[in-house]
Amino acid sequence: MATPFTDTAPGGAHSIRPCWSCRGPAAGDAAFCETCGVIQPPGQEDHFARLGLERRFDLDAGTIDRAYFARQRQVHPDRFARRAPREAAIAESRSVSLNAAYQTLRDPLRRATYLLELAGHPIAGDGKTIADPELLAEVMERREALAEADSPEAVAAVAADARHERVSAEAALGAAFAAGDYPAARRHATRLRYLGRLAEEARRRSAMRAA
Ligand SMILES: [Zn+2]
Repeated sequence: MATPFTDTAPGGAHSIRPCWSCRGPAAGDAAFCETCGVIQPPGQEDHFARLGLERRFDLDAGTIDRAYFARQRQVHPDRFARRAPREAAIAESRSVSLNAAYQTLRDPLRRATYLLELAGHPIAGDGKTIADPELLAEVMERREALAEADSPEAVAAVAADARHERVSAEAALGAAFAAGDYPAARRHATRLRYLGRLAEEARRRSAMRAA
């Protein structure tokens, strides 16, 4: 495979690569060749570029949804039913990469984790151990409260509290990203992950009782 010519980063929004069909220049992240109009395979662009979104944490769900559905419509199998099999296969691979981008960016925690990776500040470890003593104490306290909850109401209260805390953790996460404070963003993202697990655990406890 020939190395694509790029004027910025490989596969970036401004990269140029030859169209596989007419060999004319095609923008690295454009779905269709501007010369012949044929569908182009997905490039190496990141999930934000794939959906044409700015690389940032503060993106509302509606914006992400609209970007995703508009792009999925372009590669819908019905549009390629009468085209060459290779074009249909390329449309399918674009669809798969759009799904991966959407699933990563739609969930705030996954979006934050991905942004931290892109920024070179990945969340360390396997996520099973907590290095931050303050967070560790909070998690232990909340898990204890859940373990001691002996009525559906008490379990629901722990869950409601976790949900409430997730909203504020998400806001703090957004502020940290906006300030470019990646260590703080990492702390808030880790906290958000544990609060999510706690809420899930509480949900399972309620379902067990209901069964
Ligand atoms: Zn072309």
